[in-house]
Amino acid sequence: MLVDHDRGAPSPGALEALTAARSLAGKLGTRVEAVLLGDRALFDMHGEELSAVSAAYGAVAVHRGRHEFLADYGPDAWGAALAAFVDTAAPDAVVAAGTDRGAEAMAQLAARCDLPLVANCVDVSPNRTQADASSGAATGGTWHISRIQWGGSLLEDVTLTSTLPLLTIAPHSIEAEPCDGAPASAAVVDFEPDLGPEVQQTLVRDRVTLAEGITLSTAPVVVSGGRGVGSADGFAPLEELAELLGGRVGCSRAVTNNGWRSHADQVGQTGTRIAPEIYIACGISGAIQHWVGAMGSKNILAINIDPEANMVTKAGYAVIADLHEVVPAICDEIRRRRDRPG
Ligand SMILES: Cc1cc2nc3c(=O)[nH]c(=O)nc-3n(C[C@H](O)[C@H](O)[C@H](O)COP(=O)(O)OP(=O)(O)OC[C@H]3O[C@@H](n4cnc5c(N)ncnc54)[C@H](O)[C@@H]3O)c2cc1C
Repeated sequence: MLVDHDRGAPSPGALEALTAARSLAGKLGTRVEAVLLGDRALFDMHGEELSAVSAAYGAVAVHRGRHEFLADYGPDAWGAALAAFVDTAAPDAVVAAGTDRGAEAMAQLAARCDLPLVANCVDVSPNRTQADASSGAATGGTWHISRIQWGGSLLEDVTLTSTLPLLTIAPHSIEAEPCDGAPASAAVVDFEPDLGPEVQQTLVRDRVTLAEGITLSTAPVVVSGGRGVGSADGFAPLEELAELLGGRVGCSRAVTNNGWRSHADQVGQTGTRIAPEIYIACGISGAIQHWVGAMGSKNILAINIDPEANMVTKAGYAVIADLHEVVPAICDEIRRRRDRPG
């Protein structure tokens, strides 16, 4: 089980995946061993804590891959280190969280080992049972897996035949639960993967804060614009409305494709998933790839000239009119009410 972490802080997804790995190990009659990647300084500072968390969630051993190229996250370096570990440890299955890092490192591992990867699993049933394990039956074989696709809108049943199943666990598909009878500590084993300089082609060099205060994923109000906004300048009234309501501006992919706004503002399958109190979707058709990012919104107001648009039919509230008239009118009304004496 790869425990993905950010400079020593395990991701919430990693704890969920450890919980899922524990259940899978129970079905297989085997045990969970954790793999952590970092450099000497990272393990000096966070090693004990990371090992303790892994043990609390059921890992009986913690393998710490140490290398200077693992000082911070890098998909090639993590994939290569994981491949080196798998090569010597010969596990029954390799599991990671379906987080950005977990998925990327596992994709790297799959490519390096030339094995299939099943991403975003919600249920995994191996054909190998505890009885097989005690009789020494070979690993691998056929696995029955349910996984989510299309950003959660599709549940797929998969039959996997592989000598070594590589699986990521869909975030939020299981609650992270520490193990009841967790050992007080896991056995810690250090290993030093042989990593060449080529694994440094993608790595974190620096970190900058892109936005102060609320983010798109935490904003209570999101005012989003789609192709119907018409231009980058057309977003000015949406910015104004978002500011009046204490929210953030989002957009559809048609907008980012046109270069009107940055990808950081994109809502959807390949953008940010949001869950505001109210989502105000202006000139957005509501294509499935956009909808999966917006469907967690508690209320939706669609402003669109097309009464048949998906976003309009899914919204709790809709205004069928030109957004260039409606959005400034809402701003004027908010200001008028705020400025009203008493
Ligand atoms: C693999 C993949 C991933 C994708 N990921 C994403 C994603 O993460 N996020 C995303 O958004 N899309 C994504 N897409 C693209 C998605 O399929 C749609 O193409 C996109 O969402 C459409 O954007 P839109 O609604 O702004 O544009 P359109 O579909 O062109 O809709 C424009 C809407 O504006 C309305 N309109 C026009 N003028 C006005 C006006 N003056 N006033 C009011 N309404 C008006 C129209 O009636 C229409 O409903 C993805 C696609 C693929 C294939």
